[in-house]
Amino acid sequence: MTASAPQLVVHDDAVRANTAGFVARSGGHLMAVLKADGFGHGSIARSVVSAGATSIGVTTIDEALAVRAAGTDVPVLSWLNPLDADFETALLADVDIAVSGVELLGAVSRAAVRTRRRARVHLHVDLGMARDGAAPSTWASLCAAARELQLTGTIRIVGVMGHMSCADQPEDPQNTRERLLFTNAVRTARRRGLTGFTTHLAATAATVTGVGAGHDLHRIGAGLFGIDPSGTATDLEPTLSLTAPVVGTREIGAGTGVGYGLDHVAARPTNLALLPLGYGDGLPRAASERAEVTVRGRRRPLVGRFSMDMVVIDTGEDRLHLGETVTLFGRGHDGEPTVSDWARWSDTIAHEIVTRIGTRVARVHRTTTTQEAPVA
Ligand SMILES: *Cc1c(COP(=O)(O)O)cnc(C)c1O
Repeated sequence: MTASAPQLVVHDDAVRANTAGFVARSGGHLMAVLKADGFGHGSIARSVVSAGATSIGVTTIDEALAVRAAGTDVPVLSWLNPLDADFETALLADVDIAVSGVELLGAVSRAAVRTRRRARVHLHVDLGMARDGAAPSTWASLCAAARELQLTGTIRIVGVMGHMSCADQPEDPQNTRERLLFTNAVRTARRRGLTGFTTHLAATAATVTGVGAGHDLHRIGAGLFGIDPSGTATDLEPTLSLTAPVVGTREIGAGTGVGYGLDHVAARPTNLALLPLGYGDGLPRAASERAEVTVRGRRRPLVGRFSMDMVVIDTGEDRLHLGETVTLFGRGHDGEPTVSDWARWSDTIAHEIVTRIGTRVARVHRTTTTQEAPVA
């Protein structure tokens, strides 16, 4: 098999299968979280909607506009924006906005006046991470301010959201505290006169472990891409393969150093092959001297420090051909490394591996159509 350039193959069929599984786990109300370029998968909104996602969540307004531009017409929520974000463009594109403070609420409301669009707003409460979301002490006044603006007709509160800090550890008592805090926050919102909103708490881990159950909507990101932070879901499919062509080969003698610093020294005569991608393309440099690839059906080690634009494989007795395809990670069906292996080799989480593959690597979407019967 040969290839002309590094490729990140996106297995759309696997994303759809994972999505359908989470639609079932979410009682049919699944917000697909496609932040960070769809967890590095590129244009994937139509696939997740075709598999049953009923809305889409992203971080920035630009990401929301990209989802709209892809031709999806389900609700799209953007949940983290600076005060001077382009809320007018967002409202004109029917993008919902999450708000965690009165200043932002005011900015959205003013954009609504200018565009003559009623803004659809989700209120976000912090449950303990001290990160995004309104601090619990400010929640009641945020709800009151939202109620006043709602009465003027500029905004409508359509959702209340929270995010859990420890859902990947279902036994952690913090989960109970956060669930209670969220229930109380919802009650406070109702007491301040807000009604008719959906509530959403659980992301992937809280959905898989059940600690975030009991609300209207589940916001699922990682799980759609085969990643379960709790390590308990057994039915998730890896969704990416990273391949690269061999662009150089050489035979070296024992004692030959490889790469910057000559850290790696060949113990015996061997063959090397050069791949045209490196840490500048998202291969974690921390995985140097640990990571493996597959070629000709065999695992081979990457040797020497990773460079920005290239890495080197020790192929032992095999002298590869120029253009031969090497798999850096894949679905794991044929013994190749997976994204999880790369996360382990670089002491990080799978999320970081999938979101860091650079723009020099082409995304190729692959759809397995053989299971889809033609419509008669
Ligand atoms: C990223 C994110 C999610 C999705 O979390 P996963 O663990 O990837 O499913 C949900 N909600 C918020 C607020 C997020 O930032």
